[in-house]
Amino acid sequence: MAFSFWEDQTYLQGHDAVVIGAGIVGLSAACRLAELHPRWRIGVFEKSAFGDGGTTRNAGFACFGSPAELLEDRRDLGDAAALELVRQRLDGLQTLRAWLGDAAIGYVPCGSHALYLPDGSGMSPVALEALRDLNAWVAPVTGSAETFRRERVSGGRGLAADLVADASPLEGAVDTGRLHRALLEKARGHGIEVVRGVEVRRLTAGEPVELVVRRGSEGERTVHAPKCLVATNAFARELVPEADARPAANRVLVTAKGAAPAADGTYHLEAGYVYARHLPDGRLLIGGGRHWGLDEAGTDARLRAWLGRLWPGAAGVPVEYAWTGLLGVGAVREPWLKAVGPGTVAAVRLGGMGVAIGAGLGRKAAELLAKSR
Ligand SMILES: Cc1cc2nc3c(=O)[nH]c(=O)nc-3n(C[C@H](O)[C@H](O)[C@H](O)COP(=O)(O)OP(=O)(O)OC[C@H]3O[C@@H](n4cnc5c(N)ncnc54)[C@H](O)[C@@H]3O)c2cc1C
Repeated sequence: MAFSFWEDQTYLQGHDAVVIGAGIVGLSAACRLAELHPRWRIGVFEKSAFGDGGTTRNAGFACFGSPAELLEDRRDLGDAAALELVRQRLDGLQTLRAWLGDAAIGYVPCGSHALYLPDGSGMSPVALEALRDLNAWVAPVTGSAETFRRERVSGGRGLAADLVADASPLEGAVDTGRLHRALLEKARGHGIEVVRGVEVRRLTAGEPVELVVRRGSEGERTVHAPKCLVATNAFARELVPEADARPAANRVLVTAKGAAPAADGTYHLEAGYVYARHLPDGRLLIGGGRHWGLDEAGTDARLRAWLGRLWPGAAGVPVEYAWTGLLGVGAVREPWLKAVGPGTVAAVRLGGMGVAIGAGLGRKAAELLAKSR
């Protein structure tokens, strides 16, 4: 449907800065831009009703990395850069909690468990010596001598009693929907206009930046703005072909009520490629599986098998929700934050820990954009 004269004149024109994508990065960046430039008119263009990316479809882990993920980061990035990444995750989470408040985002400091099965299937436990070394390496940013502690799981919270875990008291969980709503409310409080149903089809960096936008399948219009931030994560290459961020699909299942005792808790499995947590009313969430490379039915079957293995009482409980979400991944887990041309910055490649790192990245992206020419 073509834009009306009114829609065009009211919602598309005259912005000082346009943010593309109303996920955690785009909304956080828009808020930070408004703090830096309270008189700017800031618009966020979002192509879909709730968002097609990870922000309303994620599992709600407020995490900075299980031992296996941190070992991978150290291997891929080196010790200094990997430690800086952990610092950014913790910092992003603090930013989010300070901005929005724990009650508004349903933050629960429930800790996490990286679980291992006794036969080593799924993944063998990280060697104890490597765990000690990891604790010493990460202590300067977590402020704890024992970020991870090897434990036997005793069967509480409905879990099978034969599991081994690396427990961390420092991770937590959020209510993904409430976090999104709280961010939107914060953005509205700054006078930021979030315009939904507007897809940016083409972007040309310049002075000003030129955006070709569309509503539905027709009615393209050209819009200009002095500054533009691309915060489209998995979809980044559609507008910034050089971005090292490609889409990866994660699957999520949520059971009916009563699958487990009422509890809080988050669990990492298979080096973080599979994850599970408690939800209110005894529901369980399990998700991930992108490393299996299977179709949805195959992934669902494996996720269900994990669920029954970890929570024997959940084996026959029906799944009430099943969805797929897209995240942006690349060669390493560091976000891809770059000025990609005059007045244009991209902040993408959030990977699987975007809840923690997203607000901090948004803040940095806004500061880079505000300084850009
Ligand atoms: C299933 C799943 C589970 C996850 N679980 C966790 C978790 O438990 N903990 C964690 O920390 N992270 C998790 N993540 C990752 C996390 O959700 C993401 O890293 C984070 O949400 C990315 O935020 P973002 O703002 O960069 O991108 P997104 O939330 O993807 O937002 C990008 C937005 O841009 C919009 N868009 C794209 N192209 C255009 C265009 N051309 N024009 C207009 N709009 C456009 C999209 O519709 C989307 O709303 C998970 C991700 C998935 C998919």
